[in-house]
Amino acid sequence: EPELSGDFATLMGWADGVRRLKVRANAETGQDAKMARQFGAEGIGLCRTEHMFFDPDRIAAVREMILADDVAGRRAALAKILPMQRQDFVDLFTIMEGLPVTIRLLDPPLHEFLPHTEEDVAAVSQATGLDAAKLLRRAQELHEVNPMLGHRGCRLGVSYPEIYEMQVRAIIEAACEVAASGRPAPIPEIMHPLVATREEMKFLRELTDRTAREVIAEKGREIEFKVGTMIELPRAAIRAGDLAEQAEFFSFGTNDLTQTTFGISRDDAGKFLGAYVDKGIFEKDPFVSLDQAGVGDLIRIAAERGRAQRPNVKLGICGEHGGDPASIQFCESIGLDYVSCSPYRVPIARLAAAQAAVGEREKDR
Ligand code: PEP
Ligand code: MG
Repeated sequence: EPELSGDFATLMGWADGVRRLKVRANAETGQDAKMARQFGAEGIGLCRTEHMFFDPDRIAAVREMILADDVAGRRAALAKILPMQRQDFVDLFTIMEGLPVTIRLLDPPLHEFLPHTEEDVAAVSQATGLDAAKLLRRAQELHEVNPMLGHRGCRLGVSYPEIYEMQVRAIIEAACEVAASGRPAPIPEIMHPLVATREEMKFLRELTDRTAREVIAEKGREIEFKVGTMIELPRAAIRAGDLAEQAEFFSFGTNDLTQTTFGISRDDAGKFLGAYVDKGIFEKDPFVSLDQAGVGDLIRIAAERGRAQRPNVKLGICGEHGGDPASIQFCESIGLDYVSCSPYRVPIARLAAAQAAVGEREKDR
C-alpha cells in the first residue's frame, strides 16, 4: 500500500504549512478513498456515481426503470438499487471520517444503460424477463446522435426525478447510519451535473431538500448537508449568479467546460489536436493544461458572479486540471477553496498548492 514516509512526508508537512488551497481527491471506491487519505487528501471533491451503476444487478434495475410506465414503476425498480447505493456511501463516509464528501448524482447519457443490437436485447430480455420488443423500442427512442450534448447530467434528473430521489435518499440514509454508529457525522455535499440555468438549479435544489428532509424526519437524526452544482458549461459560468441563488458550492468541471468552450469533443480531441500543437496553433493540449485565457476567464467570471450572489459560496475544481501544477497556481490566484484530483496526484497538488501560495504572497509584496 502506498504511504508517504521519511523525507517525502517531511516535505509534505512543510508544503501543508504553507498552502492555503485545500486538496481533495476524486474517488468513488473504498480503495481509492483509502489511497486518497494515505496521500493526504482532505476530502473527496468528486464521487462520480455512474461508476457505481456498472454492476449487472444495477444495470438491470435501471433498464427496468426505463421501461416502467409510471412513477410507481420507476420507484419500484430503483428501490432495488437503493440498499447497494446506500452501502456505497456508508463505505465512503466511514473511510473519510467526517471529511467533506462531494457526491455527484448520475451523469451519463441514459441510452448507455440500454442494449442496442437485437442480439443484446434478446440476451437481456432472457436474463431479466423484460419485454424484448419494449426494450428494443425504448432503446431506439432513447438513441442519441450526440449523447454528450444530449440526455445526460441533470437532464436525467429532470426527466426521471426518481433516479436523483433514490440517490439523495441513499446519501442521507447512509449519513444517518454512519452518524448513528458513533463515527464522525458525515457532511455530504450533493452535487448536480451539467446544470445550465437558474430554473434547473431550483428544481434540483427542491428535489434534493425535499428528499433529504423526508429521510431526516424518518430517521429522527439531523444531518448537515450541502447542495451545489458543477460548473461545466459556458452558460453556467456566465450565469453563475443565478445558480448561486440555490447552490451552496460550485465545482468547476474543466473537462466538460473545455469541451464545450472550444466545441471540441473530449473523447476525440486526440485525433487532431496533435496537428494543432505541432503547428504551434495550440501551445498545449487544453484538456491537459487549463486554457487560462479562455476557459480560465469563464472560471474567473463564474467565481466573481457566484460570490456576488452568495459571498461564502464554496469553490473548487474537479476536472483533470485539478492535478496540474500550472492550473493549481491559477486556482490559487483567483482564490478557489480547493482542488480535487486523482488520488495519485494528491501529493503533487499539495506541493503545487504550497508553491502557488508562496507565489501569490510574493506578488502582494
Ligand atoms: C468534468 O467535466 O470536468 C468533470 C469533472 O466531470 P466528468 O469528467 O465526469 O464529466
Ligand atoms: Mg463533466
